[in-house]
Amino acid sequence: MVIDLHTHSSESDGTDSPAELVKAAALAGLDAVAITDHDTAAGWAEAAAALPPGLRLVRGAELSCACPDGRGRTITVHLLAYLYDPTHAALMVEQSRLRSERRERLQKMAEMMQADGFPIDPVELMERLPFDAPAGRPHLAQALIRAGVVSSVDEAFATYLTGGRYYVGRTDTPVERAIEMIAEAGGVTVLAHPFARSRGPIVTADVVRDLAAAGLGGVEVDHPDHDAATRTSLRSLAGELGLLVTGSSDYHGTNKTVRLGAETTSPEMLDALAARATGGKILVG
Ligand code: AMP
Ligand code: ZN
Ligand code: FE
Ligand code: FE
Repeated sequence: MVIDLHTHSSESDGTDSPAELVKAAALAGLDAVAITDHDTAAGWAEAAAALPPGLRLVRGAELSCACPDGRGRTITVHLLAYLYDPTHAALMVEQSRLRSERRERLQKMAEMMQADGFPIDPVELMERLPFDAPAGRPHLAQALIRAGVVSSVDEAFATYLTGGRYYVGRTDTPVERAIEMIAEAGGVTVLAHPFARSRGPIVTADVVRDLAAAGLGGVEVDHPDHDAATRTSLRSLAGELGLLVTGSSDYHGTNKTVRLGAETTSPEMLDALAARATGGKILVG
């Protein structure tokens, strides 16, 4: 069984439409795939309708959350949420707020770049996005590529989009509140790439202990941004805390180089995750 529990479609900052994503998953030999767009469930229906025969679909999302880092600061962490009821009222309101803020913030970043002479058009950038989209920096990276300013998404991040004068932050959901809302909506939460140092600041092991006490269901251990030593320590932390362990590619289509199924989750873990969820079921094509 090949199970990949973290992928993005064009409903957030991936490049495959939800239908293309599930087709690509079947072609890549996957048995189960989760669609986990940033702060939206907008791709679920299209992915479900296009599900190739035999492929299992886990409906989820990746929520941007504010979290104490265990060293006195607050940082952004990503919380994967699976098999929850997307019509839970408080969750819908919060996710909608976050999506609007994402769009305003991306437009501001583009406006500051345009004001400094970059040949990009903030209005065109925003018009290209799907309705109510959770806009992200990869969209701005693509605009910079189209304008010939950079030649890759990685170069755009390294040169202009990670901190620096054009960076605008967001007000993310407090992580314990997000865990609580997903639990209320019948879902299961998994902390995405918790120790991915290369992406920016990370939390301490004590923070993971606190989140487990607050209802966190699991941790994503096998992720492209975790090295072997990181995986070993995270796996033992998960064992200590009784957390589920997942593995996933974090596929973004051509916005990243990683392939579908490059990292995987065991069937036992997926079964345990599905057994805990009351907000939704795994769909079978
Ligand atoms: P944002 O949602 O605007 O905070 O942007 C974060 C998104 O950009 C995440 O989906 C990351 O996977 C992606 N990202 C972060 N760093 C890079 C990078 N160096 N290259 C490509 N994508 C990145
Ligand atoms: Zn992303
Ligand atoms: Fe993430
Ligand atoms: Fe992701």
